[in-house]
Amino acid sequence: MYYMLYNSQFDGSRCVAVVTGIDRRSENPKTGPLVHVWFLSADHRPNTYEDYGICGDCPWSGDRGCYVRLSTCCTIWDRWARGGYTDISGILPEHTRQYVRYGAYGDPGSMHLTSWEQLHAALAPRAWTGYTHAWAEPRCRYLRQYLMASTTRRDDPIARADGWNTFMVVRTDKDAEKSIKVWKDYGTIDRCKADVYGLTCRKCMLCCGAGRRMTARTRTVVMVAHGRMAKRMVIA
Ligand code: SF4
Repeated sequence: MYYMLYNSQFDGSRCVAVVTGIDRRSENPKTGPLVHVWFLSADHRPNTYEDYGICGDCPWSGDRGCYVRLSTCCTIWDRWARGGYTDISGILPEHTRQYVRYGAYGDPGSMHLTSWEQLHAALAPRAWTGYTHAWAEPRCRYLRQYLMASTTRRDDPIARADGWNTFMVVRTDKDAEKSIKVWKDYGTIDRCKADVYGLTCRKCMLCCGAGRRMTARTRTVVMVAHGRMAKRMVIA
């Protein structure tokens, strides 16, 4: 397992990106066996009330529906704090070219361009998934080619107009179908393959941003909120 220190572009605080799942396969049933990158505050254990440096203005931070199990984040943070991980500069060639999920916790948008490029180049993933809630911030625009903008029905058109491929969370199946009907003329719009076909992200890998050759025609993936926090999620 590897780590990389960086300073948050949300508030300048010290943060750490921790890479897990390389030597031990992840058992997450939704994502399948991906390598996970966790963005954590370096100076305290994960706590959604105090993690502005890595969560930014995520609408689900605090008690507003964050679906990540904090106990897992704390276990990872504790192990990193005890010196249990290797600096990313020492990554072994056989640990690159994997299928990666950026943001098992925290927002990749917390990274400045230089830190992001360093991390992405070190991992050199074969394919990846990733999302940012900070898509409206001009300093995060560089991430359009790598990540999906996390949106709701209210702000999805704004993100698309800015060239993002988007990942829109809606409350119900009916909302999902309604969105597909309304917006199919403006770009490609699909239901999340996990929702519809029960695929894992590892088999799908659709949520990988707009790519190097961004076009005017964007892609949106629609997912119905699920999991233990779904009822509490703030969804506009
Ligand atoms: S569309 Fe595919 S990659 Fe994106 S969340 Fe759903 S299963 Fe995962």
